[in-house]
Amino acid sequence: MGYVDLHLHTTASDGVMSPSQIVRYAKVKGLQAIAITDHDTIEGLDEGLSEGEKIGLEVIPGVEISAEHSPGSMHLLGFFVDNHHPFLNERLEYLQKARIERNPKIVEKLNRLGVQITYEEVLKASGGGQVGRPHFAQVLLDKKYVKTFQEAFDRFLKKGAPAYVDKIRFTEKEALYFIKEVGGVAVLAHPNTLNMDGYSELEDLLLQLIEDGLKGIEIYYPEHSALDVAKYKALAQRYGLLMTGGTDYHGIEKNGLDIGVGRGGMKLPYSMVEDLKAARNRSL
Ligand code: AMP
Ligand code: FE
Ligand code: FE
Ligand code: ZN
Repeated sequence: MGYVDLHLHTTASDGVMSPSQIVRYAKVKGLQAIAITDHDTIEGLDEGLSEGEKIGLEVIPGVEISAEHSPGSMHLLGFFVDNHHPFLNERLEYLQKARIERNPKIVEKLNRLGVQITYEEVLKASGGGQVGRPHFAQVLLDKKYVKTFQEAFDRFLKKGAPAYVDKIRFTEKEALYFIKEVGGVAVLAHPNTLNMDGYSELEDLLLQLIEDGLKGIEIYYPEHSALDVAKYKALAQRYGLLMTGGTDYHGIEKNGLDIGVGRGGMKLPYSMVEDLKAARNRSL
């Protein structure tokens, strides 16, 4: 059995490769299966799935939904979503609208900070897909306002930075309900970004999420320390949650991170996909 990568972005959201490109790249890298999990959109799925069929790589239709959470951020992955479900697009349009309202406000804030960028430049950087903060970061980098992609987030774009603008999100309940409605298996992405240090705090949150339909935790993730992995694994085992992993590969902007392997030794066995399929079949 081969290896997989269950968390990837394409140009449909803030990734750098098109869906076909990322599928072909995964094949070149010798992966057996990947999941395409763009933020708040399924626009890349049809192309990715058909490319996968063409070249013989299993592509799992997925999505990554941001949910309300404080102090950090909560992302929920939906695997095996029915990408032609009528409800799917209608609900995702609500999230697109939230972005369309937010993005010009980020431009305004940047302009007021003396950063001369236009919305057109950001749209161009997005290549026609959904616009997200990484596209702002790319423009800031291209125009030499910052030296690195990360500096753009740290100085301007991250939560709490001067050009940050929040956007309307689903609540955790809405996101989980939505994923379930469209046939998906819900997994908590990169729990380290929740910024919850206390084990019992995290445990309480997990219990609530499980009650609302959560089926798994993303255990293996490039930014997770060995201690994080051990902690999340223990919680998953305790509550019978699926364990998944992925690199969250977006393309070139994160130095040294590659599909499948992350920053080095990641090896995610295909059994993760089998477990997800079993969970999906149980809920059918
Ligand atoms: P958005 O969906 O427009 O709010 O942008 C969120 C995306 O920006 C994430 O999925 C990451 O790709 C990227 N991102 C968010 N926070 C950071 C950060 N602190 N450093 C680097 N990239 C980030
Ligand atoms: Fe992203
Ligand atoms: Fe995420
Ligand atoms: Zn992601």
